[in-house]
Amino acid sequence: MKKYILLIAVFLTSLNVIQAQKLDLIPKPVKIEQQPRTFIIPASVHLILDEKVHKSAVFINDKFLKNTGITPKISIGNKHKNNAIQFLVDEKMNIPNDGYTLSVTRKGVLVKGKSTNGVLNGFQTLLQIFSAKEVRRGTIPFVEIEDYPRFEWRGMMLDVSRQFFDKQTVKNYIDWLAAHKMNIFHWHLTDDNGWRIEIKSMPDLTLKGGFRGPGEVLLPSYGSGNKRYGGYYTQEDIKEVVSYALERGVSIMPEIEIPGHSRAVTASYPEIGCVTSQETKSVQGEVKNVWCVGREENYQILDSIIREFTEIFPFEYMHVAGDEVNRATWGQCPKCQAVMKKEGYTDTFQLQNYFFRRIEKIVEKYDRKTAGWNEIIKGGELSPKTQIFAWQGISYGIESVKKGHPTVMIPGQYTYFDMAQSENERGHRWAAITDTKRVYSFEPIPENDLSLEEQKLIKGVQGALWSEYLDLPA
Ligand SMILES: [Zn+2]
Repeated sequence: MKKYILLIAVFLTSLNVIQAQKLDLIPKPVKIEQQPRTFIIPASVHLILDEKVHKSAVFINDKFLKNTGITPKISIGNKHKNNAIQFLVDEKMNIPNDGYTLSVTRKGVLVKGKSTNGVLNGFQTLLQIFSAKEVRRGTIPFVEIEDYPRFEWRGMMLDVSRQFFDKQTVKNYIDWLAAHKMNIFHWHLTDDNGWRIEIKSMPDLTLKGGFRGPGEVLLPSYGSGNKRYGGYYTQEDIKEVVSYALERGVSIMPEIEIPGHSRAVTASYPEIGCVTSQETKSVQGEVKNVWCVGREENYQILDSIIREFTEIFPFEYMHVAGDEVNRATWGQCPKCQAVMKKEGYTDTFQLQNYFFRRIEKIVEKYDRKTAGWNEIIKGGELSPKTQIFAWQGISYGIESVKKGHPTVMIPGQYTYFDMAQSENERGHRWAAITDTKRVYSFEPIPENDLSLEEQKLIKGVQGALWSEYLDLPA
């Protein structure tokens, strides 16, 4: 009997140890060592922020208060004080980019990052510790964490065309990305069913192309029903969201859908589309949703649009899409046919390549790099700087890397979060039924297909949330 009691005691003790050490941290830090003691946050706690982190002071203050119930005293500097929580940038730290250390001892808390974003990642870890159910409010367990990301590109996309999400919802979405240490928000701003970014040189893109319903240039779709539905972001709104994201360590890559998925454009400015005698339908059943690539004025229009994008988005990449283009339209358009004849093309993919080579030049003119979906590598060469988003599958990412392009893995079969998560759930199914386990099973580097040198071209991984089904909560 004694033996059993002893066994039970040992078992319970070990449970306690496990419980004390378990912190719900996502993603899991590279190294974590926890001790059974705790630091008690003083009611008059002092937060010391490195000068380089000062732009995030309001964010840090608000999140700290919300998660601990304690109003901190904040100062900018790098002098250590006992019982304080200190955030330091140390560029000489021997840790990969965006890495950080978090140390909680009896003297206080030190979050040290190689860069501002490293510090912010450490702060997110601290926030997760505050909200872990094992941790008593107002305390922090003694812990030593060293953490850094495997990939420099950790992105997530949101489609705001098929459903429109207001500025606050977009900010909340960015908060969720930051909480999971993701650093890129890919903002899908235009598509067939709504143009969502104010372009001052082309006002009808939003005034007309931002709305659908009875009497509008766009028909109702995706649950918008028999009412006027839509909206758009002004350039001021966008600047506000861009700084909101940067304060949280998130950069925003904008996407303009060209030359396909452009019904909102051709409905607002019909002259931009091809002139054809027969209608052909895109993959999603849209007609007239392609830019005419033989109409010379369209390149000036695109130059102005891209210039306005780059004036409000400081990020180094401009995503210019190129997916699912209904190239059959070009086959019937005299202007597009004239370009093909002049250039000696036999295939409309070559015409698509011609279009993207011209777009790359415009994007470069405004000191940005081009990004696009995996279809744009077809039909000819592109600049080796152009970054490819492999959405159709892993093999498309391999093909892109073999052609020398930096590549982000975003295969629909694993990282499209609009796929149903179970047989019974509403959602797309064309790529897979995608539950959490399946997402976690995804390995972004196909080691057997790429040499070590080639593997370096895989910049990271991204998820996508297309919004066809997001008109209802579930
Ligand atoms: Zn045309």
